[in-house]
Amino acid sequence: MKRDLKRMSQSPLDVLFIGGGITGAAAVYDAAQRGLRAALVEKHDFGWATSAATSKLVHGGLRYLKNLEFGLVRESLRERRILELIAPHLVYPLPFLVPTYRGTSNNLPMIGAGMLLYELLSYDKARLADHERQVPSFRLLSKKTVLAEEPGVDPTGLSGGAIYYDCQMHSPDRLTLEFVLAAAGLGAQIANYAQVDSLLKENDRVVGARVRDVLSGETCEVRAPIVVNVAGPWADFVSEMALGGEKKSLIRSQGIHLIFRPVIKNHAVVLRTRGGRHFFLIPWRGLTLAGTTDTRFEGHPDEYRVSRAAVDDFIREINEVFPSAQLKFEDICWTYGGLRPIVEDETDVEVEVYKASRKYEIYDHAREDKLEGFVTVIGGKYTTSRRLAETLLDLVEKKLGRAVTPCRTARAPLPGGDFGRWRDFLTEGARRHPEIGADMLQQLSLDYGARRENVLARLADERLAKRLDERHPIPAAAAVEAVETEMAQTLQDIVWRRTGLGTTGQLDEAALAAVASLAGERLGWDAARRQREIDSVQERLATHNIAG
Ligand SMILES: Cc1cc2nc3c(=O)[nH]c(=O)nc-3n(C[C@H](O)[C@H](O)[C@H](O)COP(=O)(O)OP(=O)(O)OC[C@H]3O[C@@H](n4cnc5c(N)ncnc54)[C@H](O)[C@@H]3O)c2cc1C
Repeated sequence: MKRDLKRMSQSPLDVLFIGGGITGAAAVYDAAQRGLRAALVEKHDFGWATSAATSKLVHGGLRYLKNLEFGLVRESLRERRILELIAPHLVYPLPFLVPTYRGTSNNLPMIGAGMLLYELLSYDKARLADHERQVPSFRLLSKKTVLAEEPGVDPTGLSGGAIYYDCQMHSPDRLTLEFVLAAAGLGAQIANYAQVDSLLKENDRVVGARVRDVLSGETCEVRAPIVVNVAGPWADFVSEMALGGEKKSLIRSQGIHLIFRPVIKNHAVVLRTRGGRHFFLIPWRGLTLAGTTDTRFEGHPDEYRVSRAAVDDFIREINEVFPSAQLKFEDICWTYGGLRPIVEDETDVEVEVYKASRKYEIYDHAREDKLEGFVTVIGGKYTTSRRLAETLLDLVEKKLGRAVTPCRTARAPLPGGDFGRWRDFLTEGARRHPEIGADMLQQLSLDYGARRENVLARLADERLAKRLDERHPIPAAAAVEAVETEMAQTLQDIVWRRTGLGTTGQLDEAALAAVASLAGERLGWDAARRQREIDSVQERLATHNIAG
């Protein structure tokens, strides 16, 4: 995948996407699949913002049934199966345990009824080539079984529980990247670190964007008859470039996650705070991931960071309903957070943001504001992004005056997803590569799927075959793959979004220096730049990603 803004600015295009989160990534892929000349610019790295801030779940969302959002739940459950089908290395079933308590709305009859409905709405879940990856059915549990399965659950008032299944993403960052790689493979022109500073307008029409190369400072004009604003929590700032002061304001709601020592066994545990908000304790790379929160954020999205106060509040909430965790600030290895954009007129401003819908929105500004060539999209859930892209591209083709091409993204595997049955894929890998350990084979298979051979081929070089950090079965070759084929531009791109080395907050200094050397040699960093890159990663690791 080559980053070439000059070429992008000189190419005739049909559509330009502004924003490289999962919404933009899925959209540019669908556009390229339909044979459109498509481009995407992202001001930072692909998937660094909201798309990196998820609970890493591909889920129907049991709790939305309570708001009677059957359409949203059904669509999400359908998309869950599709993501399992097109990216089976990155999306797989995970058991969820819901403890039920007497005298609360989390009681056994309520949960049982919800599970039954959820099961009915996922009626097509068996339509998978690999039946071993099929999402199993739910089952109800006695109090004794709940405590045997997850001994940390609070026994006070416990009446029983249930186990149901949804899916977990091994790496949301790499799943976003899979869509980007797929689009680039089909000829889409894509650049990260390319920021839209203003839109090009002619009469009542948007005809392109002025794009600044954040790495070199140079600017260029990229022209396309349709420009799509997929800027997530920045969508109102981008639409303001087109509409002036008439922008549609967004409400931004922040959600944080904490990663700490394991306090659960094998299930994600579904809990409810005293204030009535659901959250999860999720098994994550040998640790526990807790998420998420939902409070209104008033600042500029560029300035958003996880705050110490938000961490302390969440620790208190966890200890109140899962007291066996006895969680302290010192237990936290890593934190991350992000902003959900919520459309202001969709919900009463006074309504709690937690209760706002997770539906997506597509605005054709020709209809709304008499401005042609400009569409704004607000993503609802990571899970439904592929479907959102399908609906969006039908609109884009109509606006281009083309017949609508049948969408193929629900069937065609993503670049890493084409490997057949998971179990056979692992067995075949072990047979062909007996020299690497089972844990590294598993890690590379999860990270790259069918593309793992690209990384394995690099292991012939002794320097690249070494593990970077004993805690992570990731070879140095993964850092080189990130720079040479996955458009990583900074050490943070490599550590967090390509290799996942930093996702648990545990990475030693020597490993970081080794990655910086490998990247620096290929990206032409001098000693000062290499040190700045190392410092920026170390600062985040030292603070557990919490604002100072
Ligand atoms: C705390 C939290 C937990 C969540 N958990 C889940 C979950 O478990 N499962 C699920 O399905 N969904 C979940 N979601 C929802 C999901 O994360 C979002 O629906 C999805 O990531 C939205 O993606 P996006 O591409 O629209 O936005 P983003 O990922 O924010 O992408 C927008 C991009 O636009 C870029 N951009 C902005 N301005 C410009 C500009 N001027 N020029 C160029 N680029 C620009 C930004 O840099 C950014 O990368 C969660 C959301 C939050 C906040």
